[in-house]
Amino acid sequence: PGHHFLQIPGPSAVPERILAAIGKQTIDHRGPDFAEVGAAALAGMKEIFQTKSHVFIYPSSGTGAWEAALVNTLSPGDKILTYETGHFAMLWRKLAKRIGLDPEVIESDWRGGADPQRIEDRLRSDRNHEIKAVCVVHNETSTGSVTHIAEIRQAIDAVGHPALLMVDTISGLASLDFQFDEWGVDVCVAGSQKGLMLPPGLSFNAVSAKALEVNKYAGLQRSYWDWAEMIGPNESGFFPYTPATNLLYGLLEAIKMLQEEGLSNVFARHQRHGEAARLAVRAMGLEVLCAQQGSESGVLTAVLMPEGHSADAFRATALKEFNISLGNGLSKVADRVFRIGHLGDFNDLMLVGTLSGVEMALAKAGIPHEAGGVQAAMDYLVAT
Ligand code: PLP
Repeated sequence: PGHHFLQIPGPSAVPERILAAIGKQTIDHRGPDFAEVGAAALAGMKEIFQTKSHVFIYPSSGTGAWEAALVNTLSPGDKILTYETGHFAMLWRKLAKRIGLDPEVIESDWRGGADPQRIEDRLRSDRNHEIKAVCVVHNETSTGSVTHIAEIRQAIDAVGHPALLMVDTISGLASLDFQFDEWGVDVCVAGSQKGLMLPPGLSFNAVSAKALEVNKYAGLQRSYWDWAEMIGPNESGFFPYTPATNLLYGLLEAIKMLQEEGLSNVFARHQRHGEAARLAVRAMGLEVLCAQQGSESGVLTAVLMPEGHSADAFRATALKEFNISLGNGLSKVADRVFRIGHLGDFNDLMLVGTLSGVEMALAKAGIPHEAGGVQAAMDYLVAT
């Protein structure tokens, strides 16, 4: 009885309003009524990305938009610079290698965002401008660390390097402030199943004028992902192939919900819940994985298990005893970390319920911890 707590850092729980919108009858995607849906979705997403430039929408998971970002702008053998903020940064790098790029990686310890100074230093030594793109993850979902994108742009500009700035904000968009134009991003990658509160199945590229120009000469093979094929039909609200019509209905409802709340309020809500979650975790005597002050995520909190205890066994206890799904540790931190998602359609009581589930499951699983974590979060929520 009662509802399941889906507290992984995406997919996030889908609000009833969006489910109802998705449940409407599918229409002819080449007919006159569809044009309004397509045009509104494309225009609405520009607001969410905070851009006047172009947004592309794909019927795919986020990985598709990762691939689209690269194949639309780069040529076989091109060098790109990536930064090891965590699992997803490394997966994007792996994808780049598999499609014939030459990705270099700045290694790191998974405990913070990308360091702009290290990127600046590497670009400064690239005198022949062999590096064609700098690829960073805005909100690293495997660690709960944020990269400050405006600072990465400043690092690129400080050395006058022409590389494109590509940003994965799959788990950041519509939860954390993301200013595509203001921050000088060239290509952005996003997905439907996190801050946008939709089921998985839509992905996005926001694309600068510079990246659209580069697209004309980029030599990697592409067909399904080709921006050049999309941009014409998009002008009148259409797509070159069958779009995910019902997810687009849902997207329109999501955009409406975000507009009703106001984007700045959405961002503040996530920050506040992130702060409350970290206060709770620390009061429980546990360690937050992100160790870089000012880079902690408002989307999720990754928690280090005390030595000798299995995070996965703990998560299994939480699910069995309290019907709550917590995120697992990925690759390097598998079984060492669990992740608390606090994103999307979420409020104070849902956070308190979530943290209560964590605290009770710690007790049930016999994990050493302090009492009072939930109380610390409640005190903060009451006071702010
Ligand atoms: N990048 C980030 C930051 C993610 O969180 C995810 C998925 O969680 C991906 C990329 C991959 O997206 P998808 O699983 O939708 O293909």
